[in-house]
Amino acid sequence: MELNVSKELKLPGEVSHARLVEEIEPIELPGYVIRPSAPVTVDLDYSFDGEGFRLTGTLSAEVVMNCTKCNDEFTQGFTVEFDERFLRVSETEAEEMEVYPFSGEKLDLTKLVQDTVLLNAPMYGLCKPDCRGLCPVCGANLNNTQCSCTLPDDGNPFAALKGLAELLKED
Ligand SMILES: [Zn+2]
Ligand SMILES: [Zn+2]
Repeated sequence: MELNVSKELKLPGEVSHARLVEEIEPIELPGYVIRPSAPVTVDLDYSFDGEGFRLTGTLSAEVVMNCTKCNDEFTQGFTVEFDERFLRVSETEAEEMEVYPFSGEKLDLTKLVQDTVLLNAPMYGLCKPDCRGLCPVCGANLNNTQCSCTLPDDGNPFAALKGLAELLKED
């Protein structure tokens, strides 16, 4: 995702607006992959202050997740605000200053988009608020089928949750 700023460089203080829509690659994390399911939309205002650019606006994206109860895939959208600076510095300097680097007459928004998605994408959730999950005996997805398993007394799904809650407490 790139923003041509040749005009703005000549007009410090002037605020421009842009709306960019682009597909982005999945983002790989240790043990997790953020999978965008729709193009990312960035709506932004930007202006040159003589030294660098300030970009403010919103980013909207949609990701594929697996339900924490039934493991079915579902998509969830999110919108976040951002407020970032681009300066004519090296990549190392930019990292230290927590800004984005640019040179020439274009701003490369790839990293800003990636960082913003990475920090804000939901990673855990339910396919629907009342997801019934999986049968602890046969593994059937109880949203789709009604199995005929009888749960032993300790097969109460809340018993497992209670155990987990206690484990977390001890931590
Ligand atoms: Zn579910
Ligand atoms: Zn069952």
